[in-house]
Amino acid sequence: MGDTDWGNFWLDFKRKVFKNLHMFKKVIESRLAALRDLVGAKGVDGFLVAGLANRRYLSGFTAEDPDWGMLLVTPDRALLFTDFRYQVWAQQEAPAFHIVTYKESLDKTLPDYLKDLRVGRLGFEEVYFTYRQYHRFKKSAQEAGLKVKWLPLEGLVEELREVKTAEELAAIRRALTLTENVFQQVAAALTPGMTEAQAAWEIEKRLRQEGSEGVAFPPIVAAGPNSARPHHQSGDYVLKTGEPIIIDMGARVDGYCADLTRTLVLGEPDEQFRKIYSLVRQAQDRAERELKAGMESLAGDALARDIIAAAGYGEAFGHSLGHGVGLAVHEAPSLSPYKERSSILKADSVMTVEPGIYLTGWGGVRLEDMVRLTDEGAEVLNGLRDFYEW
Ligand code: ZN
Ligand code: ZN
Repeated sequence: MGDTDWGNFWLDFKRKVFKNLHMFKKVIESRLAALRDLVGAKGVDGFLVAGLANRRYLSGFTAEDPDWGMLLVTPDRALLFTDFRYQVWAQQEAPAFHIVTYKESLDKTLPDYLKDLRVGRLGFEEVYFTYRQYHRFKKSAQEAGLKVKWLPLEGLVEELREVKTAEELAAIRRALTLTENVFQQVAAALTPGMTEAQAAWEIEKRLRQEGSEGVAFPPIVAAGPNSARPHHQSGDYVLKTGEPIIIDMGARVDGYCADLTRTLVLGEPDEQFRKIYSLVRQAQDRAERELKAGMESLAGDALARDIIAAAGYGEAFGHSLGHGVGLAVHEAPSLSPYKERSSILKADSVMTVEPGIYLTGWGGVRLEDMVRLTDEGAEVLNGLRDFYEW
């Protein structure tokens, strides 16, 4: 390249970087504004964010350890507290936040900021705060002579995270495509004599090779009678022909997760398997056809559960029909059969539809797709259809 070419290249490069940074700051600022509305409605003037995925969603800071930073959001300030080791990292990833590097510990540093920012009613995430943190923070504030009222809050950032932007949706789609590719590779490589743990390792290895950031969760390979456990730790059970094998796996791309389950049989499936599989499929089909935004999640769960219960297998479907997926593999909302957990489903939320039937001694069948909800219905994000037609 000549001098002018280099000049243009740099100009172009800088424009792109600044444009992305600018867009990213805009996204973060709109998330903070939405959070401030929610927090304000709870009557607090400061909110401490300790949850990993919440911290990343609000700030952009990707650190994977809960101890590596905490956010304080007030009506007009956004601060990220961290220590020396993560200072530069946080500065680079969280441009909309003022980075505070604490020395001895966060609980010793926080009172100064609470005082300066005049925080009198401080909300904190009750799910992610440890008992010890709560007491230390409270004690430090008292010792500093501050009168702070501590208010445990739940689910605020999680509520914002339910609705996905186009960028988030694109990352989820990429994660799911990658997951499906690896599933197909591994399904073709399964042979009788292989153990569950070997198959699970094969999945993990290939996910990484294809570009996944680690795994969204440790892959589950549950064979034969083990497939009657909805969540199983893959072990030394040997895969045999004619037995159900549940495979549950997910990649992570740009922080966003995928979650996929398929059930298959090596060799020829028998009558029992065909019957159970068809029923699960029928239940999943109905939920995917009729789920939509605006519906109560309890009613969403019932779409599939009613079919399974009517066939006499209600007791054998002991978990929720689905869950939200995003920066966390399990997040809000929940398609739960319990009224206390019910909520109104939102447009642009991404969730799983995963009915299952588990019969102790025999095994189980679970089929899990991912959908994006709209006001009109549910868009199935999966490209991979089922193994079996019946
Ligand atoms: Zn799953
Ligand atoms: Zn799932």
